[in-house]
Amino acid sequence: MQEKNILDQLRKNGYKITPQRQEILRTLQTDPRPQSAEDIYRKISAYYPNISLDTVYRNMAILQELGIVSKLNFQDGKNRFEINHADGHHHHHLVCIKCGDAKVVDLCPFKSLDKTKLAKEKKFEILGHSFEIFGHCAACRDKLGKHEI
Ligand SMILES: [Zn+2]
Ligand SMILES: [Zn+2]
Repeated sequence: MQEKNILDQLRKNGYKITPQRQEILRTLQTDPRPQSAEDIYRKISAYYPNISLDTVYRNMAILQELGIVSKLNFQDGKNRFEINHADGHHHHHLVCIKCGDAKVVDLCPFKSLDKTKLAKEKKFEILGHSFEIFGHCAACRDKLGKHEI
């Protein structure tokens, strides 16, 4: 999503463009990896000591509600956020369960799924999906002394 579109979206829904909100968006845009509210808070509070973790949580909930960010569940108890792409394009992740690093996989296994048929069959309105692959990244595999895949 483009910066301008995001700001328009916020304004349209009655949200002010506060400096904190802009910093949160900038943090999400400059690092394309999924980030937790704590990650975002840590980065911003380094040069913006007035921000609170609560403010970050609240803003992430608003951004998610407006469809600006997606919440990803990496099963380590921490939710991570990622900016949505304007054209509806999205991707999935290879998630390292040791260090939490996430690499983008540019394919969607649900592309071939007939969503209309499934929705009709199950009388279920499909709004989205999530799909993450868990494992050990190359760096952690090195540390673990695993070489052969
Ligand atoms: Zn790792
Ligand atoms: Zn997908």
